[in-house]
Amino acid sequence: PVLLEIHDLTARVEDQPILKGVSLTIRAGEIHAVMGRNGSGKSTLSKVLAGHPAYTVTGGTVRYMGDDLLSLEPELRARAGLFLGFQYPVEIPGVSNLEFLRVATNARRAGKGEEELDTFAFEDLVRERLQVVQMDPAFLERSVNEGFSGGEKKRNEILQMALLEPLVAVLDETDSGLDIDALRIVAGGVNHLAGPDNATLLITHYQRLLDVITPDYVHVMAAGRILRTGGKELALELEERGYDWVDAELAALE
Ligand code: ADP
Ligand code: MG
Ligand code: MG
Repeated sequence: PVLLEIHDLTARVEDQPILKGVSLTIRAGEIHAVMGRNGSGKSTLSKVLAGHPAYTVTGGTVRYMGDDLLSLEPELRARAGLFLGFQYPVEIPGVSNLEFLRVATNARRAGKGEEELDTFAFEDLVRERLQVVQMDPAFLERSVNEGFSGGEKKRNEILQMALLEPLVAVLDETDSGLDIDALRIVAGGVNHLAGPDNATLLITHYQRLLDVITPDYVHVMAAGRILRTGGKELALELEERGYDWVDAELAALE
């Protein structure tokens, strides 16, 4: 079944058109990668899917599980199983990671029609899921992401994912900030959580992450559009050829 269907999506930031007609269909069981040069609109796509208020949709449709995603409040998107991992995860001083994760997990459980977990039941669950990311339980007591290194924030993001059990996970990766260990943990987490009933949209600037997470589809984004779609071999081709060919194709479009 189709989980997420983006059709001819256009969006602007302030007065600047950024997305210029993005179409993408994601089915259960698939891993998609979106690649592209800096500034091509990759993060904008994830912000629009998240419902970030700074981004205005000017056209097109996004259907999630058959519903109009764009009319759903951001909280309801998360509750319905759409997970957005950001390039720069927010820090929330004064809120313990454990409590934050518990509130988020219970909201998602409510969305699935499952009962709320009390503190004790949640601690059992979180300790089990910590193993997915090999994270030190001490991180649960700290403020959300405060003072976490880039790699620790990423582990925390994957821990959130392991708890929320999303249907569609959109991950905007700062692979530049990830050391090899963190990269392996993130990739391991994504691979572990990917299954026949869910899907992953991995936004990445580099081929490196795709050596460890094998995408079913690779999309090349440029100037707010998806310029080309292929299989995993497209990522290798990009690694070899770079993005210079993109300019010629864009010029032909304009
Ligand atoms: P990518 O993630 O592919 O590097 P972005 O989506 O971050 O690209 O950016 C696409 C374009 O939109 C860039 O030109 C960027 O400067 C612009 N842009 C993105 N967010 C904002 C914003 N909040 N305010 C102004 N311009 C923005
Ligand atoms: Mg960027
Ligand atoms: Mg980006």
